[in-house]
Amino acid sequence: MAIVIVDDTIFSLEVIKAFLITAGYLDVITVKSARELYQLVDGYSDRGIVEIDLILMDIIMPEVDGIEACRKVKKREWLADVPVIMVTATTEKDDLQLAFSAGAMDFIKKPLERVELLARVRSALRLKHETARRKARETELLEVTRQLQAANEMLQNLSYLDGLTGIANRRHFDQEFLQESRRSKREKTSLSLIMLDIDYFKAFNDTYGHLKGDDCLKTVATTLKKNLRRPGDFPARYGGEEFTVVLPNTDEVGAGIIAEELRTSIEKAGIEHINSLCADHVTVSLGVVTRFAGQADTPDDLILAADRALYRSKHEGRNRVSIEWLEKND
Ligand code: GH3
Ligand code: MG
Ligand code: MG
Repeated sequence: MAIVIVDDTIFSLEVIKAFLITAGYLDVITVKSARELYQLVDGYSDRGIVEIDLILMDIIMPEVDGIEACRKVKKREWLADVPVIMVTATTEKDDLQLAFSAGAMDFIKKPLERVELLARVRSALRLKHETARRKARETELLEVTRQLQAANEMLQNLSYLDGLTGIANRRHFDQEFLQESRRSKREKTSLSLIMLDIDYFKAFNDTYGHLKGDDCLKTVATTLKKNLRRPGDFPARYGGEEFTVVLPNTDEVGAGIIAEELRTSIEKAGIEHINSLCADHVTVSLGVVTRFAGQADTPDDLILAADRALYRSKHEGRNRVSIEWLEKND
């Protein structure tokens, strides 16, 4: 870490350098003009890239003066925190004003007093190190915050998603369905619910084993997700081999069509099931219910009705869709 002295007179350079070296600051670089300074800070001097701790800058220099040089140096992003102390024979208010607005942090009067120079240098260096430490701490804090956010997000996902299938779990369904029921009441829109259950799934597990059973559940879940096109449509694993789909703003005709599409897409997935009593591949039974604007039902009423419809599908031969109607009571 170096201290750089910029001055056009060799005498000044040597005096300042001697003061600094005798005080223990051993890495001191002297340059005689703004142009040389730019070369140094940009890494084009003999020393290559130099870490600079402090710049002591003469104000009055031919060609480019110290104020202009300070302004130019401060424009370099990597030097923004490097303190610049002006060394000046003039203490004209205007000059000092200009120096500060160019980014200088302090000034020292010529002729130089050793004690004063060293005191200013020490406090500038302390400030620089404190700034660097604070910035490092801020970066560290930002990183910790980012990690915490990522961990939180993961925890949130874990508590909302079903571990096996990756779609929403029962808890998430309960929340979402309650919210959608309320919205449907408030905005007087229709809301449909599909309940879906894999047919003869116990026999599937018994035939192919639990791991294949798990794969089957995953395939059903991804098939549901793939076939729901509107962003509001919400599939979830309700439990075991039962799934639900919430369809906001959807009447019984729309919901019936979607349920039928889901049924055929799972058939088309063609998962072999030789011990199913209704097909030679995996099928599902579905129950559909719709609430209309103004109906005084609760979310549980809808779930019970969808369950009744599903039971009817099972009872009537499985691999089919049944629709249940709520009593119109508005
Ligand atoms: P139905 O056609 O009447 O629906 O008959 P079913 O055999 O599908 O219904 P049942 O309720 O008798 O059996 C459900 C089976 O689902 C039993 C259970 O072991 C299996 N199951 C539930 N959750 C999982 C799971 O996470 N993985 C696997 N592999 N099987 C599961
Ligand atoms: Mg089943
Ligand atoms: Mg079941």
